[in-house]
Amino acid sequence: MNDIINILVPQVCFGCMTPLGKGERLLCTFCRNQLPLTEYNFIDENPIDRIFYGIVPIEKANSLLFFTPNGIVQNVIHHLKYKNQQEIGDFLGDWFGHNINEENPTFRIDYVIPVPLHKKKLKKRGYNQVTTFGLRLAEHLDAAYVDHILIKTANTKTQTKKNRFFRWQNNQNLYKVLDTAFLQDKNVLLIDDVITTGATLEACSIALKEAEGVKIYIATIAVVP
Ligand SMILES: [Zn+2]
Repeated sequence: MNDIINILVPQVCFGCMTPLGKGERLLCTFCRNQLPLTEYNFIDENPIDRIFYGIVPIEKANSLLFFTPNGIVQNVIHHLKYKNQQEIGDFLGDWFGHNINEENPTFRIDYVIPVPLHKKKLKKRGYNQVTTFGLRLAEHLDAAYVDHILIKTANTKTQTKKNRFFRWQNNQNLYKVLDTAFLQDKNVLLIDDVITTGATLEACSIALKEAEGVKIYIATIAVVP
């Protein structure tokens, strides 16, 4: 059946857009081998942690891949985000979850929480691009996927201006936790697709910190180096 579908609608690699070979799914073998893995973990300090220093107290941040403009990772994320190719999230979530368990067997997370879209944007796009990634991560980490506690209150972009005070002021109240008791003393893994300036994750973390004793970890598919 797959062979017939493949003849009618050739499946292409989401990294390089060339037709996939037999047995290949989502990404061709070449692209899989070319993916720029960060090889960061949740133990040693890495450059992503430093993005959040002095802004919001998080425990640890980690990304699976480096985001390279015009490269495989950009294509993959574009298809996940705008072309409804949510299987990509399954694939990357499985990969990251497997790596985390291998490297950090004692890593304990209670809830995996996605950076939320505003309800109007969610309706327009139809899905949150990090849902499948987060569901797979939650399964690997034996955690619950919780996407109803942290919400976005306005349908505006997060301010990413370099001036930290200015951006802190403007991002205040853009995200809100609906039930702080639910998060009390929990280990939370906040997830997103790409870290650029860190402003969005910073605003979400500030909201999550309203819960007493909450510990925040961050995991994203990619990071802009
Ligand atoms: Zn490819």
